[in-house]
Amino acid sequence: MEQNCPFCQIIAGERPGRIVHRDDLVTAFWDRAPITPIHILIVPNQHIDSLNEANHEHQALLGHLLLTAQHIARDQGIFDRGYRVLINTGRDGGQTVHHLHVHLIGGKSLPIGLATA
Ligand code: AMP
Ligand code: ZN
Repeated sequence: MEQNCPFCQIIAGERPGRIVHRDDLVTAFWDRAPITPIHILIVPNQHIDSLNEANHEHQALLGHLLLTAQHIARDQGIFDRGYRVLINTGRDGGQTVHHLHVHLIGGKSLPIGLATA
């Protein structure tokens, strides 16, 4: 656990979070500033700064993050309509919390493509 990391604090129960899923490898909770009706973050229980710090030892964990996003999409009723998963990485990637996280967004029709401006 990283002492000053907000996501480690949520995982440890030291900071409030609306947790929707927890298992041995990952925890998922609602984003506190949702950009879509469904906006949930799926994070490894182990602190990893970003996708850049992941390596082959994390292969199963990375797969589990995506399969958990799919599982939560089903739970939240957006599996059939579709949704988007995003991993912002580093400064140019717009990452603001430096604990690897997958955004699951949906519950509305998202624009085709990705804005880059
Ligand atoms: P990113 O820009 O990819 O690093 O996304 C960080 C996300 O974490 C943003 O969407 C924030 O709204 C969200 N966030 C930051 N702090 C918290 C928190 N304590 N609980 C829930 N979501 C948070
Ligand atoms: Zn952390």
